[in-house]
Amino acid sequence: MWSLYEEIIFRDALIEAVISKANEDDGMLSRTELGNFLFDGIYLRLIDPQGGIWNPGSSWPLEDELRATLSINTTTKKKKTNIYADKEVADGLWRYDYQAGGVAGRNTKMRKAMELKIPLLWFRQEESGDYVPYKIFVISDFPEDGYCLISPDLSLAVAASSESPLERKYALREIKQRLHQPAFRARVISAYETKCAICRLGHGRLLDAAHITADSDESSSTSVTNGLSLCKIHHTAYDINILGIDANYRVHVREDILKEKDGPMLLHGIQEMDQSEIWVPFYESKKPDKERLNARFVEFSDQT
Ligand SMILES: [Zn+2]
Repeated sequence: MWSLYEEIIFRDALIEAVISKANEDDGMLSRTELGNFLFDGIYLRLIDPQGGIWNPGSSWPLEDELRATLSINTTTKKKKTNIYADKEVADGLWRYDYQAGGVAGRNTKMRKAMELKIPLLWFRQEESGDYVPYKIFVISDFPEDGYCLISPDLSLAVAASSESPLERKYALREIKQRLHQPAFRARVISAYETKCAICRLGHGRLLDAAHITADSDESSSTSVTNGLSLCKIHHTAYDINILGIDANYRVHVREDILKEKDGPMLLHGIQEMDQSEIWVPFYESKKPDKERLNARFVEFSDQT
């Protein structure tokens, strides 16, 4: 049996590979992909075939057994008998509800994950049916009430209940961002069919979900209508107002940038995009919010 240290190294590498694989495309993986995930030359099942908690048993193809739960998942299905009422609770942590029956059976390995402070995967289902993967830790456990609290980071969870208001505020913001960003990315990149709205570049790893109303702004939102799928260059160019996008979806490149002479990236990648129209999703409910676009465009136009 491998040491705890070896198991943590294995888990970290596996979790990184899962998140990286998701981000090659729209940040999500299907149930089929999670049921048969190729890692280090071996196909592994990463999600429970039926329930919410996956403790690989005798079917696990590796010689070494896992000490604790490998993954949990949250589905979007609103069933009448919804026992998985996962939600955000105090201190920015998330609540994960156990299956009925307390900590017996599957849930004992969740307790182990908490005791050993080892990372596990959390798959959150989006409306499309696919899952966004997260690395999480089990922070505290309330077996009598049938739930536990989870966080994307151990030290952040400690900081979230710190006595220092500043430390607490930072930790809460960070946790919130770490939980919302992957889902926001998945919604936006999938709505734009894994393409940059400006140049149509179609490589998931080179794409970001850009916020129209900045994330730091109180009125920001994680709705797809506050997002634009942009490649890295166009995302940064949009954030620093080298280019703007008006409410009619037209791209405007800053005057001084248009006059500049430089290599092919500036010429084809930026200057030639001036006055072009961005590509937006077909469905109204997914198109970028015109009011938000306009507010950002005013900022762009006001710069001197
Ligand atoms: Zn682009």
